Amino acid sequence: MSIASIRWISGPVLRAVAAGPFALREAVRVGPRALLGEVVRLDGDEIVVQVYEDTTGMRPGIEVHGTGLPLAIPLGPGLLGNIFDGLLRPLSGSDSQFVQPGAHRAEAGLFAFAPRVKTGDTLAPGAIVGDATRAAAAAGERSQAVLAPPDVAGEVLAVAAPGDQREDATVCTVRLADGTVRELSMRHDWPVRVPRPVARRLPAAVPLVTGQRIIDCLFPVAQGGKAAVPGGFGTGKTVLLEALAKGCSADVIVYLGCGERGNEMAGVLEEFPQLTDSKTGRPLMERTVIIANTSNMPVAAREASIYSAITVAEYFRDQGLSVALMADSTSRWAEALREVSGRFGELPGEGGYPAYLSSRIADFYERAAIVETLAGGIGSVTVIGAISPPSGDFSEPVTSHTKRYVKALWALDVKRAQARFYPAIHPLQSYAEDAGTFAPWWTAQGNSQWLPLRRRFLTLLDDEARLERMARIIGKDALPVRQQLTLLCAGLVNEAFLRQSAFSPIDRVCAPGRQSAMMRLLGRFIDLAEGAVAAGLHTDRIARMACMRPLQRMGEEIGDGELPRFAELQAAMEREFAELTQRTEGSDAAHG
Ligand code: ADP
Ligand code: MG
Repeated sequence: MSIASIRWISGPVLRAVAAGPFALREAVRVGPRALLGEVVRLDGDEIVVQVYEDTTGMRPGIEVHGTGLPLAIPLGPGLLGNIFDGLLRPLSGSDSQFVQPGAHRAEAGLFAFAPRVKTGDTLAPGAIVGDATRAAAAAGERSQAVLAPPDVAGEVLAVAAPGDQREDATVCTVRLADGTVRELSMRHDWPVRVPRPVARRLPAAVPLVTGQRIIDCLFPVAQGGKAAVPGGFGTGKTVLLEALAKGCSADVIVYLGCGERGNEMAGVLEEFPQLTDSKTGRPLMERTVIIANTSNMPVAAREASIYSAITVAEYFRDQGLSVALMADSTSRWAEALREVSGRFGELPGEGGYPAYLSSRIADFYERAAIVETLAGGIGSVTVIGAISPPSGDFSEPVTSHTKRYVKALWALDVKRAQARFYPAIHPLQSYAEDAGTFAPWWTAQGNSQWLPLRRRFLTLLDDEARLERMARIIGKDALPVRQQLTLLCAGLVNEAFLRQSAFSPIDRVCAPGRQSAMMRLLGRFIDLAEGAVAAGLHTDRIARMACMRPLQRMGEEIGDGELPRFAELQAAMEREFAELTQRTEGSDAAHG
């Protein structure tokens, strides 16, 4: 392999005079500690290298060794349940935030391998070779598919018998079309910056169920879709992403902590290993991969971590699973890009970011998709990226470029957060482009009114903003009674439906059935209230109704398993309205 000699070095970037050929994106090893780097530019006889580890002590004259291979990460059954740095080197638990310099890959774990192919079979690219179950698996732990690499096809010459194998031991030998023989283990390397191939992309039609009412009902994201969560400091990005990781309907969660301070990741690193998955009763970590590249870890590795995370997500997608990737925060990733670009001496663009910021953001979100996999299954990667705009200004470059590529935006609002109204997603600044596509899915869940109710809620919230502006000028009591009713109903939708504490044992996740029951109940309330006002009842009287308080509190008080209680609440509400309107009509008659 080729060797180069460092001529110049600045932080994570070095230039070296090459004594042989290097390839773009080739992985290199720098100096006696064999620090991991990647060739990012070829410049005459010089190579420019981005180094993913702390370069303290490196100086001109030190050697850089080529590896002849692109920078790649190992993908295998050992990923689930573990915590890695930005280049997928293992971080063992919350205390060790650093990997050994030069350390390359995870220890190969022991897995029970069960073959799905036999000698003589033709192996197609990305096909399923067998299944792997952790050798030390607890009862009920799911197996994982063992995939042939997407770039390998040929005739199976030999396959291991069922039994325990190290993750890196040969389990299948294949003769390729050109006659060469490849040995496959349960894991394979894949270059981080290259999207993994698929048979074809499918149209998004099914929502990722997040368990958050404001998302699922007002601003849903598709399985295989992309959403961004911009929000200033303390508006609830991390809490929301964690809530989604714990409660969403994906089979596998890839959680990327990117450039946030170590203590902000503490929640994930310490809490996740102790959580139980409410749907299966199994440890949440069994279907989770955490990638942590905190602010005290090398900046270039942070730039790479977003690609590692999406590559890992694609690897599980290729097993026919639905995967959700949470990235907290893409702004810190963009800052790493900016810092490395500055060291290259590139001309800064808008906000100091390199001119290719936008295309890099696009490349990342573009990898979200629902697909037919090479193995013939259906898998998806849904990407949810947090954005931390400096001083909460959504017009800055990362937010504005991201908005061009995502389908759903969940904009966190400082005022709502300050009022401790969580999740602080602003209903008027947020959007979901695909919402209409999900109506058939909701109908299949027994809620054919989902789309009209959604529209009704959104209109109400829109009217509320307008009327509040007016009320500030002329006073609320001066508004016509119908507009006062709009304010009352919008207030109820906010309080009873959109508000949802991530820390409430009952309400932190809300299943679609309960979401539908709550939506319908509120829709019915609005109908009855409009009828009552038309019949002459004053809104103040409606505000004082006995059913108001249970309605406002229903999210906290009625759980997913207690849907009949919504019918009881509705019956009480109907009775109360009936009595009130009768009385009103009665008094009208008396006056008449
Ligand atoms: P950010 O990551 O945007 O800086 P955090 O997610 O750390 O903000 O949220 C800050 C605080 O706001 C949390 O510690 C928590 O007290 C509160 N909070 C945020 N979101 C919620 C939520 N959905 N439910 C309850 N409390 C929340
Ligand atoms: Mg945060």
